Amino acid sequence: MTNDPSLESPIRIGVLTSGGDAQGMNAAVRAVVRTAISRGAEVYAIFEGYQGMIDGGEGIRRFEWDDVAGILGRGGTVIGTFRSKEFRTREGRLKAARNLLERGIDRLVVIGGDGSLTGLDTFRQEWPGLLAELVASGQVDAGLVAAHERLIIAGLVGSIDNDLVGVDSTIGADTALHRILEAIDAISSTAASHQRSFVLEVMGRHCGYLALAAAIAGGCDYVLIPELPPTEGWEDEMCATLRAGRARGRRDSIVVLAEGATDQQGNRISSDYVRGVIEERLGEDTRVTILGHVQRGGTPSAYDRWASTWLGYEAVDEVLTASPDAEAKVIGILGNGVVRIPLMRAVKDTQRVPELIRSGDYSAAMQARGPSFTELVTTFSELSHPASFTAPAEGKRIAIVHAGGLAPGMNNAARAAVRLGVSRGYHMLGVMNGFAGLRKGNVTELGWDDVEGWTGTGGAELGLRRAVPAMEDLYKISRAMEDHAIDGLMVIGGWNAYQAAYLMHTERDRYPAFQIPIVAVPASIDNNLPGTELSIGSDTALNVNVSAIDMVKMSGAATTRCFVVETMGRYCGFLALMSGLAGGAERIYLNEEGVALGDLAADVEWLRGSFEKGRRLFLAVRNEKASESYTTEFIGQLLEGASNGDYDVRTSIIGHIQQGGEPTPSDRLLATRMVSRALGQLDEELRAGSDNSWYVGLQQAQIVTSPMGHMLDHVSTRRRRPKQQWWMQLRPVVRAVAEEPGA
Ligand code: ADP
Repeated sequence: MTNDPSLESPIRIGVLTSGGDAQGMNAAVRAVVRTAISRGAEVYAIFEGYQGMIDGGEGIRRFEWDDVAGILGRGGTVIGTFRSKEFRTREGRLKAARNLLERGIDRLVVIGGDGSLTGLDTFRQEWPGLLAELVASGQVDAGLVAAHERLIIAGLVGSIDNDLVGVDSTIGADTALHRILEAIDAISSTAASHQRSFVLEVMGRHCGYLALAAAIAGGCDYVLIPELPPTEGWEDEMCATLRAGRARGRRDSIVVLAEGATDQQGNRISSDYVRGVIEERLGEDTRVTILGHVQRGGTPSAYDRWASTWLGYEAVDEVLTASPDAEAKVIGILGNGVVRIPLMRAVKDTQRVPELIRSGDYSAAMQARGPSFTELVTTFSELSHPASFTAPAEGKRIAIVHAGGLAPGMNNAARAAVRLGVSRGYHMLGVMNGFAGLRKGNVTELGWDDVEGWTGTGGAELGLRRAVPAMEDLYKISRAMEDHAIDGLMVIGGWNAYQAAYLMHTERDRYPAFQIPIVAVPASIDNNLPGTELSIGSDTALNVNVSAIDMVKMSGAATTRCFVVETMGRYCGFLALMSGLAGGAERIYLNEEGVALGDLAADVEWLRGSFEKGRRLFLAVRNEKASESYTTEFIGQLLEGASNGDYDVRTSIIGHIQQGGEPTPSDRLLATRMVSRALGQLDEELRAGSDNSWYVGLQQAQIVTSPMGHMLDHVSTRRRRPKQQWWMQLRPVVRAVAEEPGA
């Protein structure tokens, strides 16, 4: 027991996980522990949620740097979670306050759902009163209390449901979506073999995010979510949709149901009921799969590792810098940035949604979920049934072409372009094999059914070529575009695709066929394109890298080993930095920062000392173009040369598998959202009869377009990357969690 009331005593932070577990909680705990140590604070892990705080003893343990080693990639929460009934009582909270006080802990980071955060806020508000009571009853002395008059808190939301109002994603939701999509892809193949229907029930008591996102990313037929209870007679509509799909040749049908789905009278719709309806009315063999806890399991996705690490880092900053009088904050991800929002406002807004649903105010419930949720609903309905409306733009012909390197998610983009385009009244044309194919006039009209089954596969069904057309190709390309009467062009791809689109845009005075709107959609694992925080394919590549790093690390688990892993990305360090952050690298080498021999020498020195003190594993991630001279091989040899036999060194170049993964849920959704916006932009131009060209991007959670004419202002053409790269702000996060002070 520490009874030192001195203000000089170190700052002590407690961290706990509470409520339902979620993948990524470990990453957050690890980041809290390491950031706190990096900033000179002491940190205590509180085991089994609030119960550990009440029990004291072994329930509250000081954690050092190595206590969180090796947990980044583990599912669940290694410090345990619990639903503590006792913490709901003032008596329980009094015990908790005493246990914290005795250890000098007056700052808390809690990772949990809205229940846990409500409890946290109550605890903070009661803190001065609890302390006064402890003094009055003689349990602690007044001097101790005087040093810890206020409790400073920060909340992080761990919830696979993605239900917190005010943030884009909660810890665990992305991984849960991975598990659901793995199930959908698996079910699709067996369902298609037998021409069966499946009803898939996913989690989400009050929030339909998982169901909706999965239905879009998995190319499912029908979805039932709590925010949008179906109107009477929905069974007919569902059956008509499934029947129409079958009539068009679909071999499988999948209905996704959120566990909290109800009808408009508030009666729960069970998966068994849906199965019965399909069997009875369509006479189809129908199976139910309830995914249940599978959704909480497994290794966390790359996103849940890097985002949770960032959140843990920010939470420590919050409890170290917030004024004790400031409103308590919950920290979350909005867009690709961190926001700190008033905790109780976020909790109340979140808890209001089920009330709105119960009262039948569905539009308010949808509004509370935010604009991207509404956008997903609209997109699903457009993608799942071909609309029969006639758009004014009917008859216009939009061509889709892929170019540049391959990016997982290109098929999702092409599929969404065809279906949304057809739905909006266009003739959609697929160009085969990139601009080389366009030059030869390799263009085919694609209908709704031609893109069936394009959701789960990597590669590019339309084919692509890397090359940018040469000036001498432009004439032939323009002739082919005239022959096929192309009114608008969507170019989906990476750096070379953007260059090609820009070239056509700037050459339009010479070629009348180019006097059409052109929209470029970013698809590149490198994530090096202007006007967007993320490009299609980059999340998949990141997940491939993180799995590769996990395996590489495991291969060295039985020995003392040093790994240097090389990622793609050309001159852009996104993949290297994010893979290193999500993979738990100690060092990351980027072209953006350069690699200096002096730094390498210091790294070698650090490493040698570290292995002497008992380190067993070291991981460095190097971007393929981090430095012309200090290659991956060179760094490996440098480390090996200094090893004195204390460790061995292996280099590993991840290579082209980074382009080959099956697209992640996040890439599938991004592709769909971006293409929808690209079509919207083309639609505006075609209606206005203008020929402005644009490129699409994700900025602060919104899909936006930027004028093609200004593209070069935003990029370094020599380095083939944007001038501003948001993820560079994660550099200090990497250092805080990777570089043990004084080690
Ligand atoms: P979640 O945090 O996932 O929403 P719960 O609602 O079950 O999960 O809350 C988890 C734990 O947080 C509870 O078991 C309890 O210990 C604590 N808690 C929840 N609500 C309150 C509250 N109103 N007052 C005090 N503690 C609470």
